[in-house]
Formats: sequence, structure tokens, C-alpha cells
Amino acid sequence: MKSIEQIYVNGEFIHPSGEQYQVLINPATEQIIGHVRLGDEQDAKIAIAAAKQAFRTFSRTTVEERSQMLQRLHDAILAKSDRLIQANIDEYGAPKRAATGRVKLAANNLLDTKEALESYNFVQYIGKAKVVAEPIGVIGIITPWNASYSQITAKLAAAIAAGCPVVIKPSELSAMQTQVLTECFHDADLPPGVINVVTGLGHTVGAELTRSPDVAMISFTGSTRVGKEIRRGAVDTMKRVTLELGGKSPNLILDDADFSIAIPTAVSHCFTNNGQACVAGTRLLVPEHRLEEVKQLAKQAVQTITVGNPWSEDTILGPIVTEKQYEHVQRLIQSGINEGAELVTGGAGRPEGLEQGYFVKPTVFANVTEKMAIANEEIFGPVLSILTYGTIDEAIEIANNTSYGLGAYISTPDLDKAVEVASRIEAGVIAINGAGFEMKAPFGGFKQSGIGREYGVYGLEECLETKTITGYDKKQA
Ligand code: NAD
Repeated sequence: MKSIEQIYVNGEFIHPSGEQYQVLINPATEQIIGHVRLGDEQDAKIAIAAAKQAFRTFSRTTVEERSQMLQRLHDAILAKSDRLIQANIDEYGAPKRAATGRVKLAANNLLDTKEALESYNFVQYIGKAKVVAEPIGVIGIITPWNASYSQITAKLAAAIAAGCPVVIKPSELSAMQTQVLTECFHDADLPPGVINVVTGLGHTVGAELTRSPDVAMISFTGSTRVGKEIRRGAVDTMKRVTLELGGKSPNLILDDADFSIAIPTAVSHCFTNNGQACVAGTRLLVPEHRLEEVKQLAKQAVQTITVGNPWSEDTILGPIVTEKQYEHVQRLIQSGINEGAELVTGGAGRPEGLEQGYFVKPTVFANVTEKMAIANEEIFGPVLSILTYGTIDEAIEIANNTSYGLGAYISTPDLDKAVEVASRIEAGVIAINGAGFEMKAPFGGFKQSGIGREYGVYGLEECLETKTITGYDKKQA
């Protein structure tokens, strides 16, 4: 049983003033594996004060100093890989292979940003003006539970590169993962107050960060509902807000695609991260006359997926993170059945032989229409909805007929056509023929999937303010 009693402020692990405890449950076994003492508004305030104090000197560090800090953070994370992987499996239910990849990704974020920092031009001359990019100030980082490590390090890396101290409020459901990650931060030996970590609830710690006049920016990843709350809450202090929110991403399979590759790829992309990925391609759009073939291929692809114990090397699909999320996924599966979608495979309830744990049957629906909840709502579980189209114009219209705009996927051997289709899709990241994402390039959403971009140079620039200075050159004055 793990007991997490401390938060991290000003370079030290300290007891919070908050006295509320939350239990931590292993989603694969439903056993209580620990508890965490949560910070409160008061704890957020002292963490913000520490960061504000640190800003005075940290904002004046050199690129080389910050570059070394990013390297040390990267190295410290890799040094604790095994413990990070273990916490990700036990607390979140990530299959071992996925957990291993996620820790590497979290560490790589720091090196990618280091590279962006080292080539960044902080000073430009425009006309008679000297234009300087300066750190914006203290940044509040608020993250969800579904990719805790990499969400935190992407935001942290950008802030450190810019010269901004941070107060991190991770998800209260990721306390064990946060604990190990915070130990890595401590090992990296940054100046006190540059990184502060307060695990607590959204409406206490998160809300305090959002309203504090001493926080210049909130970098948030999470649901669109909470993103809207944060944006409203940030208005009074006019702080900058970047939001990485939810999605209902379309996956367009064009008629000339190789369906034997495109359909299994679509299924595995949709079920990535136990189906809990903001960018998952959950709406599969296929030509009407190929539907029967698609259903067969999707069913076969699901049969190859091993669901179960996340510690097993073979497991592809682990459990849903909590009972509450499990019930949410079940409700949406049932709504698909009630609204008349055709169940190709899966359905309500647990997979056979997995009575313990929040496991969901990998589920595929066909004959889904745009009005159905499973075509509109973010399910955040391994559920794929197949919709059909007649013409490419119609496919694009369906793809864009959503309030979200995070990701999109296109399959066709004709790359010119793929790029043309991509140009008409309202989404921030588009992958052609199963390509992976480029983590040095910007990531973020159109429409209600977010504001701003993360990673690489774009992520760094979000954390900078611009200052224009004229009259500095005595000869010109
Ligand atoms: P959530 O919005 O419920 O919570 C996210 C974080 O916000 C948590 O730390 C939570 O404690 C905090 N929070 C809650 N209420 C708050 C408030 N009033 N003020 C300040 N902070 C508050 O999201 P979740 O359930 O943890 O994560 C799942 C959601 O995250 C999904 O919608 C998913 O699409 C989204 N997500 C988006 C991306 C992306 O990059 N676009 C990535 C991962 C997850």
C-alpha cells in the first residue's frame, strides 16, 4: 500500500495544508493500492509564491543554462524508467509495452524542446526596433490522467526553455505516477521554486491557479468542459490560456486505399491507450459500397487484440481508468445499441473471463448515423463507429460535422489527393496512411478541441511575451 503524503514546493517535499485523502485504485484488479493527501488552495498559493520568487532569477538564465536543465530532466526521467513504467501500469492500467513507450516519449519531449531552444532567435531587429522574446511569467500546468508523464513534460519543457517557473497540478488520479516523476524533477537539481507540484482537485488547486494574479498563463490539457471553465476563470486576470481538449477524430478511408492494411490500422489507432486517447480516430468513414468488407476486416482485426492483464507482454488493451469512466463507456455502448447501430463485435459488459477490473469489450459499430451519440460524443474507450459516405465531398462534410477538430486520418495511395483532402479538413493534426505524429511539430486542435499549440518551437513560443524596444541605438535616436 503506497501512501503519498507530500507535495513539492520550492525544491522540497513538504506536507500540504490540505487534509483530504483520496484512495488510489488499480483499474485492472479494482484493489486499493494506495492513497494520496491532496493539496488545497493554500498549498497552491505557497507554490505560486515560490514560483514567483524563482522567476526573478530564472527569467534571466542563459539559453545554455536552460538547455543543460532540460538535459538533466531528460536524464533523470530515464534513470527512473522502471519505476515510472510500474506506476503507469499499476495506477493507470497501461499495457507494459505502451507504458515503456510512454516513458521514452516523456523524456524525449525534453530533448526535442532543448533542440528548439538552442536554435531559437530570442532577439530580432525590425525597422528601428529591437524585438525581444521574454518569458511570460509563472505558468500553471493542469493535466489529465490519460497520459500523465508526457502531458506534463511537454508543458514543462516549453516553460523551462522559455525561462518560466511552473506550478504543476496533475490529475488527482495520477498521484503515484506524479510522485515518481516529481522525484525525477528533484534529482535534476533545478533552482528551488522553478518546478512545484501540487496534486489536488480541480475546483481547489486548479481553480486557484486559474484565478491567481501571479500566474501569467495556464497550460491545460483535459476535457472541453473544464477547458471552457478555465478560460472563463482566466478572464479577470487576462492570463494567457492554452487548451488541449477533447476530440472525435475522423478516419477517412478512400476507395483506392488498401483496405487490408487501412482497416486494421484504423482499429488499432482507435483503441490506442486503452481507447483513452484524445486524438483517437473514433469515426471511421468508408465508402458505402465497401461496408460489408470493412465490417469483416474490422471484426478480424479486433479478434487479434489481447485484452487483459496490463503486465502481460502480449496485452494490447488494458482496463479503463476508473469505475466512473467504465460506466460512462458502458452507457455510450448501450446508447449505440438503443439508437439502432449495428454491433459488429463487442458490446456492453466485460470481456469473457475478465470479471474483475474495468475491462471493456473492444467494440465496433456499423451503420452509425451522424445523429447518434456514438458519432458525436467523446467515448474515451475502445469503441469504433463506422459511418459510410457516397462521394469524397460527402466524406469531408461528415468529417467536419463536429464541434471538435483535433486529429484526422486519411488512407489512399494517391498522396496528392490525400493532401488535397487534408487541406479541406478542420483539424490540427492529420496523419496520412497510418503515419505517426511528429513530436517536434506543433500539436493542437481547431474549433472546440483547443487553443494554441504544443511541442517544439510552437510550444516554446506560447510561453513567451514580445517586447519591442526603440530608441536603444544612440546613433539612430
Ligand atoms: P478533466 O477535464 O476532467 O480534468 C483535467 C484536469 O483538470 C485534471 O487535473 C482536473 O483535476 C482539472 N480540473 C478539473 N476541474 C477544474 C477546474 N474547475 N479548474 C481547473 N482545473 C480543473 O479531464 P480528464 O477526465 O482528466 O481527462 C480526459 C480528457 O482530457 C478527455 O476529454 C481528453 O480528450 C482530454 N485530453 C486531451 C488531450 C489533448 O492533447 N488534446 C490529451 C489528453 C487528454
